[in-house]
Amino acid sequence: LLNVVWLRNDLRYFDNAVLCSAAEDAARTGAAVLALFIATPQTWQQHDMAPIKQDLIRRRVMQLQHEMMLLNIPLLAVEGSSYRQVTGVFTSLSRQFQLKVFVQTEYELREQQRDAAVEQLVVAQAGQFIRFDTQCIMPPGTIRTQQGDIYKVFTPFKRTWLSRLKEQGVQCLAKPEALPASNLQFVLPQLPALKNADNSSAAWPVAEAEVLDLMRAFCRSKVQDYHQARDFPAIDGTSKLSAYLALGVLSPSQCVARLQLEAADSWQQDKSGAEVWLSELIWREFYKHILVAWPQLIKHQPFQADTAAIRWSNNNSLFQAWCDGMTGYPIVDAAMRQLNQTGWMHNRLRMIAAGFLVKDLHIDWRLGERYFMSKLIDGDFAANNGGWQWAASTGTDAAPYFRIFNPVSQSEKFDPQGDFIRLYVPQLSKLHGKALHWPHTLGGVKGYPAPVVDHAVARKQTLALFAEVKKPG
Ligand code: FAD
Repeated sequence: LLNVVWLRNDLRYFDNAVLCSAAEDAARTGAAVLALFIATPQTWQQHDMAPIKQDLIRRRVMQLQHEMMLLNIPLLAVEGSSYRQVTGVFTSLSRQFQLKVFVQTEYELREQQRDAAVEQLVVAQAGQFIRFDTQCIMPPGTIRTQQGDIYKVFTPFKRTWLSRLKEQGVQCLAKPEALPASNLQFVLPQLPALKNADNSSAAWPVAEAEVLDLMRAFCRSKVQDYHQARDFPAIDGTSKLSAYLALGVLSPSQCVARLQLEAADSWQQDKSGAEVWLSELIWREFYKHILVAWPQLIKHQPFQADTAAIRWSNNNSLFQAWCDGMTGYPIVDAAMRQLNQTGWMHNRLRMIAAGFLVKDLHIDWRLGERYFMSKLIDGDFAANNGGWQWAASTGTDAAPYFRIFNPVSQSEKFDPQGDFIRLYVPQLSKLHGKALHWPHTLGGVKGYPAPVVDHAVARKQTLALFAEVKKPG
């Protein structure tokens, strides 16, 4: 008997229902326990997964291997190039053992197909395939309107989500007790080891204890100013935990439980920061719920079907200027350079840069969605798709299409001293005041491009593009 903890987006040993259940079951049945991670670089590439995210995963898996040894659970990390080869790994294991495979549910299309194939194989060999829906605190499908429908709008979703939280509270699982030492390592199938990727995620710690400390430190102090600081990219005012939530190094329950603990214990005053941060965690869940309920989103179709007919111009050189941070709009360029250089972008900038691509450059949001995915360390299908469809006014609870950010006013409002622009666009570092946000009035700056479009003209064109497909009234 072998219990396989097949780790995917739950790369942690605390609060891991999959791991705990496999260990508890083994204590009852005497089964051996093996943790398994299968890297699939070919499929990752097809999904545009950023190299920096791949690197973070690799580093995290290697670290988890050590951490799991303390529980006497060997973690076998193998490379299977594509999802098709994943079934091969299970075929090979099921030749030697009767399997119980424990997994966390994944919502994306190919992942579901992959899991169905493995389930079929395992069950055909008299094994079991056991799923745990633990990516969210409230699993998709469980938050509904009084009529039983899935919410399409965030605010009432959040209200119901919060009242459910009040009813049921939030629990986190401890790590499982260490198992008796196993001799499993001697019978493991010989599979190639996970290959080294480039080391570009080195700035992000991967030890679970360290990541938990980061989360706790944020909940202890920084979160108190979150509601005020979170919109200013020059301030380090957000948690920067998104990559860990995307990989499941942290669970959302751990974040909410810690937030509640700190709120009850240490804060004297205002809880606005904590409330707004909790809201962001609920946005994370909202987009996953939407994705599960409307599977066409997984195929990159717009939620608002009429917007599929928009005639995007998809000008290649404009797209390239956006990717390279060379649009002549300083805040957009600083944002894109932050993404290209660090693999992460501040939320306010994601909204500005995405809005600019769609509503100033008239480029299909799916090209931007894909580009973000190919660069983000925290790339997450539901959040990325949700964010892009929000910015493009094609999604569920999207910005109305006539709401078009003015990139210069956004810049003046959210980077008032220009500190963020200066950091990423050194060509403008000597400028101050209005000139920093719009350096083109005095004939431009050496080494910095002229604006690729005129915002006022582009705005009118956007309204016309949407008017063509939107029915009046
Ligand atoms: P915090 O402000 O500290 O928020 C805490 C956590 O809440 C985040 O770590 C994240 O897990 C979640 N969260 C916050 N905002 C959102 C949101 N709007 N939607 C969903 N979850 C949210 N987030 C991703 O995790 N992966 C993505 O691929 C992604 N792509 C995006 C694309 C666009 C166009 C936009 C507008 C937003 C995108 N976001 C994405 C959401 C958000 O920008 C990031 O989660 C956030 O900037 C991460 O920084 P943080 O961890 O400091 O967030």
